[in-house]
Amino acid sequence: MNNHYKHIIWDWNGTLFNDVELCLDVLNGLLLRNELNPITITKYREIFTFPVKDYYAKAGLDLEKYSFEILGKEWMDEYQNRRLEARLFHNAEKYLQKIFSSGVEQSILSAYKQDTLLELVNHFQLSKYFTYLNGLDHIYATSKVDLGKELMEKLNHEKGEVLLVGDTVHDFEVAREIGADCVLIASGHQSKSKLVECKVKVYENLDEMMNNFKFTNQSISII
Ligand SMILES: [Mg+2]
Repeated sequence: MNNHYKHIIWDWNGTLFNDVELCLDVLNGLLLRNELNPITITKYREIFTFPVKDYYAKAGLDLEKYSFEILGKEWMDEYQNRRLEARLFHNAEKYLQKIFSSGVEQSILSAYKQDTLLELVNHFQLSKYFTYLNGLDHIYATSKVDLGKELMEKLNHEKGEVLLVGDTVHDFEVAREIGADCVLIASGHQSKSKLVECKVKVYENLDEMMNNFKFTNQSISII
C-alpha cells in the first residue's frame, strides 16, 4: 500500500479501549452462572466474532435453551457497570495526539451504543481528536457496515485516502465494504492467527503500528 491517508477511522473496543479482559471476565461470569466452564483469554480471542451471538454459542451457551436477548442484556448490564475498570491501550492518547497534530483527521466507528461511546470518549477526554464519533443505536453489537457507509459519505475522500484501524475480521470486512483500506492490531479481541487470514498488515500493538506510519504533508503512508 503506497497510499497517503488523510483520514483514520478507528475501531474503539479492543483497538483504542482495552476492554478485552473485562469482556472475558463478564463472559466467564455468565458461563459460571449457567454452570458452564470459564474460558481462557486465548480461547476467547479464538472464538470472538460478530455478530456476538455466534461466540456466545462457541463459548458453550446453548442458545436453544437460553435466550440470546436475555444473555446479551445480562452481559451488557454487567459490562456497563464495570466499564470504567478498562483503560486505554498503552500510548493510545499519545498516538491520537500525534496523528491529530500531523493534520490527518480521525473518527471512531464502533459497534458500541452511541451514547456509551460518547460518554467513554469524553471520560478519557479524547473527543478533541475526532471529527466524527459513530456508534450503533442498540446494544446488540451487530454490523458496522451501514454506519461506515454513512461516515464515508460524510468524509468524501478519494479512494486510498481513508485507513480503518481495527482489531477484528469484522473491521476488515467493514473496511472492504465501505471502500477504506485496513490494518489490524492483534492485542484486541481476536487472535493474530485469525487476523492474518484477512491478508492486510497485522501489528502486535499500537506501538508497532505507529512505528510503521510515515508522516508527510498532512498524510500518513505505511512503510
Ligand atoms: Mg474492536
